[in-house]
Amino acid sequence: MNKNDAGVIIVGAGHAGGTAAALLRQFGYERPIILIGEEPIAPYQRPPLSKAWLKGETDAETLMLKPATFYAEAGVELRTGVQVVSLSPPDKTLTLASGETLAYETLILATGARPRALTIPGAALSGVLVLRSAADAEALKASLGPGKRLAVIGGGYIGLEASASARALGAEAVVIEREPRILARVANETLSTFFTNYHRARGVDFVLSASVAAFEGEAGKVAGVRLASGELIACDAALVGIGAIPNMELAQAAGLDCADGIIVDEAAQTSDPAIYAIGDVTWRHLAHYGRPFRLESVANALEQARQAACAITGRPPPAAEVTWNWSDQYDLKYQFAGLPFDVDDVVLRGDPASGKFAIFHLAGDRIQAVEAVNAPAEFMAGRQLIARRAAVSRSRLADTAISMKEVAA
Ligand code: FAD
Ligand code: NAP
Repeated sequence: MNKNDAGVIIVGAGHAGGTAAALLRQFGYERPIILIGEEPIAPYQRPPLSKAWLKGETDAETLMLKPATFYAEAGVELRTGVQVVSLSPPDKTLTLASGETLAYETLILATGARPRALTIPGAALSGVLVLRSAADAEALKASLGPGKRLAVIGGGYIGLEASASARALGAEAVVIEREPRILARVANETLSTFFTNYHRARGVDFVLSASVAAFEGEAGKVAGVRLASGELIACDAALVGIGAIPNMELAQAAGLDCADGIIVDEAAQTSDPAIYAIGDVTWRHLAHYGRPFRLESVANALEQARQAACAITGRPPPAAEVTWNWSDQYDLKYQFAGLPFDVDDVVLRGDPASGKFAIFHLAGDRIQAVEAVNAPAEFMAGRQLIARRAAVSRSRLADTAISMKEVAA
């Protein structure tokens, strides 16, 4: 280890880490960059793992964040299959699972999140799956096809996207959700009902308000999900999609301030000025809402990678973005922006029965969030209105005869 060679080390070679490495070079950073990831492959995009890739509509190469030659050409030392096991902020070093120690001048933690585990009897049976990595997606894909039945625990994004993909592959799918409706935490009730009906019409079964008691199997392989009510849901594989938890243990053990994620400021800086944190692992400030939160999205990973790269290279901080996200299920394009904090009213624009509509969440006369189904103009204008903190008229917002351009003017 030579401390004079220390530059930036990025821990976590995912969407945020890979983007930060590229932006640092783009912004003229000339010192060494080491990008360390415990997965065996270079940074890739996770969104297609539950959508296009799972359905076989795209190949592994198109998942990659950058072409294979990028890292060598950009002078980024990519170390895959390598786990960082501890940090020592006082002497600016970190230790790998091999025992090797590396020195950094600046550290970026981009360790992401992992699936929340369902710790019930039978969870170790083969065929009980999660979906986070490319390897997880391979295992899931291998268990789908005609004649197979997938039980999905959790009616969130993973559950719904995987169910739609399972149907496209000819498998049966049943979603088991603890709440009385799907997407309860993230979406409006009108939207939950719309998605439930859309999935049901395409052959997905739903078991709502149901608690899962155990996985049951034969010869070490899952064959069913036992509910607390006693009912057994037969399946060939069970996918657990009950949320994600931040990989912040390294930061906690090193004494960095953490909440439900590593606490960072608008420059993605942690409580240690030499350490930045970006992506799913952070507990960040939301400029448009004046409060901290943990976001799990590609847009957030990209925004914070830019914040850190700007701060490290002495550039002015980028303008705060309004968070946004999307989910593709069947032929539906669901896009949402903002977060529904302090909402006292919702306005529906369009008719859910037509398959094209948007729901605006308002606090007073300001839009806090928009959820749009096959309605890109509503999504884009809604996002702009959130950013501008503009006052809107409810009646104009609801009137599809008035274009979103006019509403936003
Ligand atoms: P990750 O991409 O999880 O990367 C973190 C990396 O750090 C991982 O490779 C991990 O192995 C590695 N790591 C962790 N600890 C260590 C360590 N100690 N040493 C070395 N390496 C370590 N978002 C959207 O906006 N739209 C979507 O449609 C969408 N679809 C998704 C579909 C799926 C199936 C999944 C799983 C996620 C989806 N997301 C989507 C969420 C999005 O992928 C994440 O928000 C994004 O990947 C976060 O990037 P990240 O770099 O913070 O974390
Ligand atoms: P999620 O979207 O948070 O949804 C988890 C769902 O499981 C929630 O409906 C939750 O209900 C429910 N749940 C929690 N505990 C449960 C239990 N014990 N039994 C039954 N249901 C339970 O998380 P996810 O779908 O697992 O996704 C994981 C990660 O992948 C997240 O980071 C997500 O953002 C990301 N992802 C994103 C997309 C996208 O943006 N399009 C697509 C796929 C994955 P409660 O609300 O009551 O907790």
